[in-house]
Formats: sequence, C-alpha cells, structure tokens
Amino acid sequence: MPATASPVDVLVIGAGVAGLACARDLLAGGLDVRVLEASDGVGGRMRSDRVDGFVVDRGFQVFNTSYPQVRRRLTLRDLRLRPFTPGVLIHTDRGRLRFTDPTRRPGTLPDLLPGRLAGPRDLLALGALSGRDLLGPVEWVKRSEDRTTRTALAAAGFSDAFVERFFRPFLSGVFLEDELETSSRFFHLVWRSMLRGTLCLPAEGIGAVPRALAGALPAGLVRLETAVERLTDDGAETAAGALVPARAVVVATGPGPAAALLPGLDLPPYRVVTTYYHVAPRSPLGEPTLLVDERRRVLNTCVLSDVVPGYAPAGSALVATSVLGPDAEGRERTVRAALSDLYGTGAGDWELLTVRTITDALPAMPPPQPLLRTSRTGPGRYVCGDHRATGSVQGALASGARAAREVLRDLGR
Ligand SMILES: Cc1cc2nc3c(=O)[nH]c(=O)nc-3n(C[C@H](O)[C@H](O)[C@H](O)COP(=O)(O)OP(=O)(O)OC[C@H]3O[C@@H](n4cnc5c(N)ncnc54)[C@H](O)[C@@H]3O)c2cc1C
Repeated sequence: MPATASPVDVLVIGAGVAGLACARDLLAGGLDVRVLEASDGVGGRMRSDRVDGFVVDRGFQVFNTSYPQVRRRLTLRDLRLRPFTPGVLIHTDRGRLRFTDPTRRPGTLPDLLPGRLAGPRDLLALGALSGRDLLGPVEWVKRSEDRTTRTALAAAGFSDAFVERFFRPFLSGVFLEDELETSSRFFHLVWRSMLRGTLCLPAEGIGAVPRALAGALPAGLVRLETAVERLTDDGAETAAGALVPARAVVVATGPGPAAALLPGLDLPPYRVVTTYYHVAPRSPLGEPTLLVDERRRVLNTCVLSDVVPGYAPAGSALVATSVLGPDAEGRERTVRAALSDLYGTGAGDWELLTVRTITDALPAMPPPQPLLRTSRTGPGRYVCGDHRATGSVQGALASGARAAREVLRDLGR
C-alpha cells in the first residue's frame, strides 16, 4: 500500500516557469499548495549548467524585459541583466548588414538606407508595422485576423527580397521553424515586445529566472526529485508510490508528460532545436549581438561571453550556435564550416564544449492561435504550460496565472 502524504488544496506538478507562477498565485489566493518536480532543480527548459567553468544554458535563449508577466513577477535588477545590442547582424553574400531600431541608436540609421538592407517600400512598411505594434493597444493584436507570418508580411507591403534577407533568417530563430508559417498574432506580440523591451541574459545564466520565481515561494514548498507517475481520483501518485491527496491538481509538466498524465489532452507538435557550444581563444565578433545567416545554414549564433563575460573563464570566448532539429553525425562539422564563414575567421580549431538538443523546445503555433486557452480539463484537473498559450516565457507564465485564476474560482476563492 503506498504511503499517503498530507493532503493539500492544490498540487502543482512541474516546477518550470508555468508551474512556479501558478503556485505563487495560488498561495497569494490563500490556498495550501505543493509543487512536485521530477528533476533535481527548478526551471524546466530554462536551466543553466556549469561545464568546465562555462555557463551553458539548456539551449540558447534570450530574456525579454518587456513581457508583462515578467515585469509583474520579477525584480529585474536582481537578475543582473546584461543586454544584447538592439537589432541583429545579418550575414549576406554582400557582407554583413546591421538591422537595428534607429530610434534607439540614431547612428545606425544609415545601415537601413535603401541599397544596403531595405528599399524605400520596405522602410515605409517597417515604419508602419513598428509604429502600430509599438504604440497600439495589445487588443489590436489579439483581435487581428490570424494568418501565417509570411502572408501578413506580404500584406503589410514588404518585398519578398527583404522578407528573405531579414525576417526569415531572424524569425526562424524565434519561431524555431523557417517557413514563416507561424501565427501572425504571435509575430506581432514578439515584434511588440522587442520594440518595447531589451533582449538580455542574466549574469548567472537563463536559469536565474526560474530560480528567482522559486525564491518567492516559501522554503520547502517545491519538492525536487519527486516525479508524479499518475493522477488518482483525489490527487496524484508519485513514482515512489506516495499518494498525494489534493482538491485540485495542476499539470505543469511540459508536453510529453502532460500527455501521459492527462490522456486525450489536445497538444500541438513541438519544434526541436540543437545548440552547439564552442570555445574560441578570443571573441570572433567583439560585440554582444545576435548574428543570423541569410542562407539559413544556422538559426543564429552569438558570442555569449560578449554579452555576459562570466559565461566563459578569462582568456576564452563561448560561442552558441543553434540549428533546427536534432544533432546528427557530421552536423557539427557543417556548423563549424558555417561559423568560419559567418565570423570570417577559422573556426576549425575551436573546441566543442558541449551540445544541447531540446526535443520539446517550442510548440508549433500555426494560425489560428487563441494565444491563451483555458486550463480546465475535468473536475479538479487543470493544465498549464507554454502549449496552452504561446511558446515563450510570457506564454508559460500567463498560462500558469490563468490556471491559478481558474482553480481559485472553482474552489470558491
Ligand atoms: C532552446 C530554447 C530556446 C527558447 N528561447 C526562448 C526565448 O528566447 N524567449 C522566450 O520567451 N522563450 C524561449 N523559449 C521558451 C521557454 O523557455 C518555454 O516556453 C518555457 O520555459 C516553458 O515553461 P513551462 O513551465 O511551460 O515548461 P517546462 O519548462 O518544460 O517545465 C516543465 C517542468 O515539469 C517537470 N516535470 C515533467 N514531468 C514531470 C512529472 N511527471 N512529475 C513532476 N515534474 C515533472 C520538468 O522536469 C520541468 O521542470 C525557449 C525554449 C527553448 C527550449
């Protein structure tokens, strides 16, 4: 007979950012909460490891300071954020071009001028799109007709050449697909957040974000290394056989385990991404900027230690390069060859530090996208995570918040 743990109001399964946000809001609503996490730390897809003195995030990702849920829940100063330069560098056959927001860096306006990156028609379209996304209410985006990003960009007046040169290479690293088939609503939310915020990395790695969320919870509330095996009629059973009775259960596990715990759950397919971490003797770029490739041999690459010097020990530089799909025989060689071309320096002798493949990295978000779905799946059962909202920190946190609101309402709070 399995041992029975003490009963709680709500059991949250999974301590990724969605589960942590949900637990925080449930506590604030006066409920007794427990969080069970299968792994040895909080953060799920947002964790960082130390490898030979380097900080290695579990797949390259960036932190956006403008997400409303981020601003609501985190004291940004505590994360000791280090910014990327606004905009990106684009490697083209005609050399490197810079795309940047001239309102932030007026000196970079000439980079956008016709003949360099964009024609007059593209500049006009860019001004109109950015003005609307920056200044308009978010409801405009939520109520807009949803179509693919490719269709929306054409309708906004961009030339195919500009879409291929800038939007497609840049957005493939955001959507983790390179056909621009992702929802235009999501695209506008992303564009808006980039215009309003700053892309950064915390000094201690991306894992500092969930650690800060967990730090707002009472000690002992999150139990690590406690995987839930199945849901029961009145709670859940852990892999070790302990029964945890709860009035409500929130499944915040990410897509695969959610499907196992809640059979029949409607889940999107997920995108796969691989990040290669190379060590160079010195920075091949010398600035904290994302570099994308018009030929799309890689999704993007960046010298992490130019953004946060502490990502690499003194006297070396850490380069992160992401590609779509899994690692495969010979793939790293191809990436290394692309890096030599992208950075204009021999990458052949760079050390391969480690490789991270994330199989459930981001949900596919084809149109139409509801942006945020209900968490209720049955009496006393709820689900949250980025697959219920958008594939982003904002989406995961917002889905956790929604699950908490629904639980609180159903339990009469
Ligand atoms: C490579 C990569 C790059 C990204 N880039 C960005 C970016 O630049 N900007 C951005 O906003 N977002 C980005 N994202 C997306 C963002 O990281 C995710 O949307 C978000 O972290 C998802 O959080 P979650 O809580 O929904 O799920 P998860 O992080 O998957 O958390 C689920 C948790 O549940 C635990 N769990 C699983 N099964 C069980 C079980 N049976 N019992 C108990 N616990 C269990 C897991 O161990 C995990 O801790 C990126 C993601 C990846 C992978």
